[in-house]
Amino acid sequence: MKTYDVSCPCCGHRNKDLYLEETEGWMECEKCGEVTQVSKHFEKRVKVPVFRMEDLGKVMAAGLI
Ligand SMILES: [Zn+2]
Repeated sequence: MKTYDVSCPCCGHRNKDLYLEETEGWMECEKCGEVTQVSKHFEKRVKVPVFRMEDLGKVMAAGLI
């Protein structure tokens, strides 16, 4: 199973090797104990390459002019 490293939105502590798929994105910070759902954050990360490809196209178009 894949694990994720997630920074706590409350204290910023980096929680490593979390099984987010098993908990549906919920994680408990090992430092401050705050329970948060972070699934939306890693869904956004999956979509990032799409935006990067768009930006790359604009950069290439600008470079041709
Ligand atoms: Zn925390």
